Amino acid sequence: MSFIWLRTTIILCLIFLITAGLWLSHDQLLALIFCGLMLCVLVFFHVFHLNQLFSWAKAADKQKIPVGRGSWSEVFYLISRALRRFGDEAALERSKHERFIQAIQASPNGVLMLDNKDQIEWCNAMSAMHFGINPKSDYMQKIKNLIRQPNFISYLDGEEFSQPLTIRNTGTLQNQVLSLQIFHYGKDEKLLVSRDITQYEQNDAIRRDFVANVSHELRTPLTVLSGFLEIMRDLDLSEEDESRYIELMHEQAGRMQHIVDDLLTLSRLENNYNLIRETTFSLSPLLRMLTRDAIALSKGRHEIVLNQTEAVNLLASESEISSAMSNLISNAVRYTPAGGQIKIDWHLDKKGNGIFSVTDTGMGIPREHIPRLTERFYRVDKSRSSETGGTGLGLAIVKHVLMRHQAHLEISSVEGEGSVFSFTLPTSRIFPIKEVVA
Ligand code: ADP
Repeated sequence: MSFIWLRTTIILCLIFLITAGLWLSHDQLLALIFCGLMLCVLVFFHVFHLNQLFSWAKAADKQKIPVGRGSWSEVFYLISRALRRFGDEAALERSKHERFIQAIQASPNGVLMLDNKDQIEWCNAMSAMHFGINPKSDYMQKIKNLIRQPNFISYLDGEEFSQPLTIRNTGTLQNQVLSLQIFHYGKDEKLLVSRDITQYEQNDAIRRDFVANVSHELRTPLTVLSGFLEIMRDLDLSEEDESRYIELMHEQAGRMQHIVDDLLTLSRLENNYNLIRETTFSLSPLLRMLTRDAIALSKGRHEIVLNQTEAVNLLASESEISSAMSNLISNAVRYTPAGGQIKIDWHLDKKGNGIFSVTDTGMGIPREHIPRLTERFYRVDKSRSSETGGTGLGLAIVKHVLMRHQAHLEISSVEGEGSVFSFTLPTSRIFPIKEVVA
C-alpha cells in the first residue's frame, strides 16, 4: 500500500473512530456533524492542493512548484525532483547536441540536410559558402532552386549516389571546384556532403601539363636524331657529311641529356625526404669560380664584374647554392646581347642577411611574364631559350634550392633595359670571416 493510501486510511479511521465515540458517549447529531465537518475539511484540503498543482502546471515555467502540506508536500517534492532530473538530462542532451553541431561546423567539408522533398533543413557554414546559401532565409527552400546546374539536378533526380559529382562552385568563390555526394538517411531524407577539390584539380592539371611538356621537350631533339639516323642509314654519305651529322646528333643527344639531368635535379629537390646536406664553406672561392665560368660562357662578348664586399662562410648545401647562383649567372649571359654588362654582387644588409644578385643589361622581361618564370618549362621567348641551350627548368631549380634554404627569388626587370635576379640568405646561415676580398 502506498504512503498516500496509508495516510488517508489512518485519517479516515481516526474520524470514524471519534465519530463512533461521540455517537456512543454523547449525541448522535453531534457525531454526524463532527464526521461531516471533518470530511469537508479533508475534501477542502485536497481540493486546495489540487488547485495549487493546477495553477502551477498552467504556468509551470514561470512559477516555483508549491510546497504543500501533508501528503501533498511529498507529492510536490517528488514532482520537483523528477523535473530537476529531466532538466539535467535535457541540458546534457542539449550540450551534446551543441557539441555535435560545433563538430560539424568545424568540418572542412560542407554538410547539408535535405528533407524528403529536397528542401533545406540545415547546413553548416562550409556548405553555405560552397552553395551561396543563407541558412536562415533559405530554410526549407528547394535545393534545386539554389543549385541550378543541370548536372547537379540530374544527379539529384537520378537517385544513384554511389559516385561523387564534380561541379564548379555556385557560391561566392567562382573558381572553386567541388566534389558532391549524397547519402540517404532517416525517412527518405538526404545528406549532401561537399568537398573543395580545387587544389587536387590544379595539381592534376599541373601533372598533365608537366607530362605533356616533358614529352614535347624531348620529342624535338629525338625527331632530329632519328631523322639523321635515317639519312645515315638510307644515303651513302661522304665522310665529311657523316662527321657533320654525327656532330649534330651529338648536340641533340646532349640537349636531351641536359633536360633529363635538370628533371632529375628538380625531382631530387622537390622530394621532401631528400634532406639538405649542409656544410660550412667559404663563399669567395665559389663566387670566383662562377665568375670564371661566366667569362668562359660569354666568350668575351660581355663585360663581367664580380662585386663582393664581405667575405663569409655559408652554412648551406654547397652544390645546391652553387647550382642556383650558376643558373642565374648563365641566364644573364645567355639573355644579354654582346656588348652588355653583367654584375655579380654579394653584400650583407644591416641585419646581417646575405644578399646575392645578378644584374644584366640584357633584353629584360615583359612584366606579365615575371610571376610565371619559375614554373617548369616556362619561357618568355621559346626560340631564344632553345637557341641558347635552355631547358626552361633553370629558374624552377633555383626556386626549389632557395626554398630549401629559407630564401626566395626576387626578380625585377625592364623590357629592353635589363634584369636583376636576387635572393637573400638569412643571418643564421652566414658567418662573416676576416679575409681579403679580391
Ligand atoms: P631557360 O633554360 O629557358 O633559360 P630558365 O628557367 O632558366 O629557363 O628561365 C626561364 C625563362 O626566363 C627563360 O626562358 C627566359 O625567357 C627568362 N629569363 C631568365 N633569365 C633571364 C634574364 N637574365 N634576362 C631575360 N630573360 C630571362
